[in-house]
Amino acid sequence: MPNQKKITIAIDGFSSCGKSTLAKAIAHDLGYIFIDSGAMYRAITLYCYKNKLVDENSIDEEKIIASLKDISIHFEFNSTTSKLEVTLNGENIEKEIRNLTISNLVSKVAAIKEVRQKLVSEQQKIGENGGIVMDGRDIGSVVFPNAELKFFVTADTEVRAHRRFLELNDASISLKEVAKNLKERDFLDSTRKESPLIQTDDAIVIDNSELTQEEQLLLALKYYKDCIHYLAQFPKK
Ligand code: C5P
Repeated sequence: MPNQKKITIAIDGFSSCGKSTLAKAIAHDLGYIFIDSGAMYRAITLYCYKNKLVDENSIDEEKIIASLKDISIHFEFNSTTSKLEVTLNGENIEKEIRNLTISNLVSKVAAIKEVRQKLVSEQQKIGENGGIVMDGRDIGSVVFPNAELKFFVTADTEVRAHRRFLELNDASISLKEVAKNLKERDFLDSTRKESPLIQTDDAIVIDNSELTQEEQLLLALKYYKDCIHYLAQFPKK
């Protein structure tokens, strides 16, 4: 639609519940920017892992905080996949950040206040002009509390683990390991002190356990149209 006001769409939810898939599809449909905020936390975690600041048994919070000034995270457009991919100090690390080692460490790093402050402020800068769909854990609660449209996406734990397992497509990783990682991250992400994952009162819940990606997208777009209709009648001040 021409001259349509570009809004901010925040999508939060548990690990591997299809948030990014939905966010990407909405952004594609509306011609919005899609930002996977989890990729930014994963990028910092990769830096920390490579610099031996975090591993399975330990985390050096002080050194991580001191290193933040040396960490630069950006997104670059991949014209083959038509996707924004994350870079760490100029290097494309989109693939590397998805492995199980990083998945097992990321929630520990993401719980550090200073890490969150750095990324939240960068995310707010990226989204300052609207026309953005961002997914994560604190997007509707902290990053864009005034987002016009908020979704909280959920799905059964078993369904999520199975989807992630198929997506990883790695014979060396079992379904059990994937399920364990999801449960641990869900627990850490929703119980941490700094901006834990919560469902805000104004978020629309989408349980996609029994929805196809297309059905989920259609449902979200229906809510988007309702939201635009509502904003046309009651514009935000
Ligand atoms: O979305 P994804 O599963 O890739 O996120 C990886 C991890 O990054 C999450 O488990 C969570 O610990 C952290 N995260 C966060 N806040 C966000 C996005 C991700 O704490 N907005």
